[in-house]
Amino acid sequence: MASYYAPSVAHLIEELAKLPGIGPKTAQRLAMHVVKRPEAEVLALARALVEARRKVLRCSECQNLADQDPCEICSDEGRDRSRVCVVSDPTDVVAMERIREYDGLYHVLHGLISPMDGIGPEELQVKDLLRRIREGDVVEVILATDPTIEGEATAMYLARLLVPLGVDVTRIARGLPEGGDLDYADEATLARALEGRRSVRMGGSARSGRDPEE
Ligand SMILES: [Zn+2]
Repeated sequence: MASYYAPSVAHLIEELAKLPGIGPKTAQRLAMHVVKRPEAEVLALARALVEARRKVLRCSECQNLADQDPCEICSDEGRDRSRVCVVSDPTDVVAMERIREYDGLYHVLHGLISPMDGIGPEELQVKDLLRRIREGDVVEVILATDPTIEGEATAMYLARLLVPLGVDVTRIARGLPEGGDLDYADEATLARALEGRRSVRMGGSARSGRDPEE
């Protein structure tokens, strides 16, 4: 299909189609849009792409993507350093910050345990999390991984490692849409899930009014 385009346009379509969620049709539409725009506008887009890629780094404390190390959240003196909220992706930090209910720190795993995709704990930022908990003054670790099979498995895996370290390990409530992504949840739902978090005990997650060892 792309071969009927001028080679430079075909090349642009090819590159755009590599982006997640961009099919061939969308890539063609975007390419057509780009070649019709004023050059200054396209240059601004190209610069923004390169600049973001060059500047972005991982915060050495929370592993979130940032322009500085430590990131803005980790270096904010006003935040509650006794709580760490564990999420799978940087977009989840954005979702949590949007609800304005949480003023603790974060830890970004950069993925979830998924044996089907060959992703084990070694591929995630687990060691750094354990080091932080051992070295810091953290009292509570909130496991806010997605309410999916992978998210639950990751939360349980982490709980087994964290509970023996003597911190209160909590799991966000199940009010979130089953199988959904944390960052797709609306703010009120996410705020309720955070509010309704429960302590995780070894051998199963404790729910209100029930025996934690069930
Ligand atoms: Zn950070």
